[in-house]
Amino acid sequence: MTLLLGCIADDFTGASDLANNLVRAGMRVVQTIGVPAGPLGAEVDAVVIALKSRTVPAREAIEQSLAAWRWLHAQGAGQIYFKYCSTFDSTPEGNIGPVTDALMDAMGCDFTIATPAFPDNGRTVFKGHLFVGDALLSDSGMKNHPLTPMTDANLVRVLQAQCRRTVGLIDYRTVAAGAEAVRTRIEALRRGGVGIAVVDALSNDDLLRLGPALADLPLLTAGSGVAIGLPPNHGLAPSAQASALPAAAGLRAIVSGSCSQATNQQVAHFIAAGQPAFALDPLRIAAGEDVEGAALDWAAPLLAQGAGPVLLYSTAAPDSVATTQRRLGGMEAGALVEQCIAGIARRLVSLGVRQLVVAGGETSGACVQALGIVQMQIGPQIDPGVPWCHATSDDGVGLHLTLKSGNFGSEDFFTKAFQVLA
Ligand code: ADP
Repeated sequence: MTLLLGCIADDFTGASDLANNLVRAGMRVVQTIGVPAGPLGAEVDAVVIALKSRTVPAREAIEQSLAAWRWLHAQGAGQIYFKYCSTFDSTPEGNIGPVTDALMDAMGCDFTIATPAFPDNGRTVFKGHLFVGDALLSDSGMKNHPLTPMTDANLVRVLQAQCRRTVGLIDYRTVAAGAEAVRTRIEALRRGGVGIAVVDALSNDDLLRLGPALADLPLLTAGSGVAIGLPPNHGLAPSAQASALPAAAGLRAIVSGSCSQATNQQVAHFIAAGQPAFALDPLRIAAGEDVEGAALDWAAPLLAQGAGPVLLYSTAAPDSVATTQRRLGGMEAGALVEQCIAGIARRLVSLGVRQLVVAGGETSGACVQALGIVQMQIGPQIDPGVPWCHATSDDGVGLHLTLKSGNFGSEDFFTKAFQVLA
C-alpha cells in the first residue's frame, strides 16, 4: 500500500477532526487509537494515529509521538502531519513545541510550518495571532480551559516559548500571493535560520493555496484545516463513498466531560428541550460516592423504556470548574471525572447503547480506551470537525461513535447528531 499521509494527533477528537477533513477531500482514512501493533490490513490513503499526548508531561508526549512516527515511517508514509487543536491547546511547557522539535530531530528535517487555522470553525490566523470567531484566542472561552488555559493569542510567541528552534511567520499577504510566493518565503526563512513558521490563513482559499506549497515538506504541524489542501497534491478529489458507514441501530446516549462554552450551551439546549439528563458531581466522585452506579441506575430504566438519547454530564460553568479545581487540583479533578465518565460509557454499551456521542477531547480519549477501541472508520460529518465513526470494542461490539471536541458543534448538536445518523 502507498500511504500518502501519516498523521499523529495529540488527542482523540482532534484525530477524528483531521480524519473528517481528509475524508471530505477524498482520502480513504482509518483512525487508530494509539500506535497499531502491526501493519494495517486496510487499503487507505491516510492513517491518523490518535494519541492522548496533549496534556501529559512533554517527555511522554515526545515518546508517544516518536513511536507513532516510527510506525508511520515503517509503513512508508510519504508525508507526516502532526495535528494539534485549532485553539493551539498547550501548557507553557508544550507539548506542541517539544513534539515538533523531537519529530524534526528524528526526521532530520530543517523546516516545518505551524498553523491551527480552521476557517470552517472560525479559527483564523492573522499576523500570527489566532482568532476564535471574532475574538482573539486570549479573549475567547479558551482562557478558562480546565487543563490548557490559553492567555496569549500571539502564536509565534507561544510556540517560541515551547521549542528550541527559531519560530518565524509566513503572513497573510504571502499566502494570498499563492504557492510560489509561499515557497520563496519558506526558502528565505530557512536561510535565515528559522526552523518553524507560523502561517496565516483567513479562509479555505488560503488553505487550498497553501496545499501545493507544502507538498515537498516532509513534516507539517497544524490543526485540521491544512488537511483540506493536501489531497489535491495527490490528484484526489471529494467522493461521497469515502464516508459510507454500516447502518445504525441500538440505544442512544451522550456522555460529556467537556466544560467548554460550546458544550455548556449544548447541554443547556438539550435540557431546555426536555430531554433526560443526569449531572455528575466531581466533588461526590472525590468523596468516594458511587456516582457511576447512581448514573447507571438513572439511565438503565430510561433506556429500557426506549427513551431517546440520555445525557450524562459533568459539564459545568467556569466558576463551578474553578471551585472544583481549588478543592481537588485541576489535573486530579480532570482524571477523576474522565475515569468516571469512561466507566459510564463502558456500562452504557453493556446495556445496549450502540450510538454514543462523547463530548470533550480528554474525555473521548478516556472513553475510547475504556471501550478497548483500537481502530475507527470515518463516516459522515455532523458539524465541521466532527464526523460519525464506526468502531468495534474489545468485546466485539460494533458501535457508532462520535468524539466531539469541546469547542465544536452547533447548539443543537446532541439532537442533530442522531438525526444525521438516522
Ligand atoms: P474539551 O474538549 O472541552 O477540552 P476535555 O474532555 O478535553 O474537554 O477536557 C475537560 C477536562 O475537564 C477533562 O479532564 C474533564 O475530566 C474535566 N472536567 C469535566 N468536568 C469537570 C468539572 N465539573 N470540574 C472540573 N473538571 C472537570
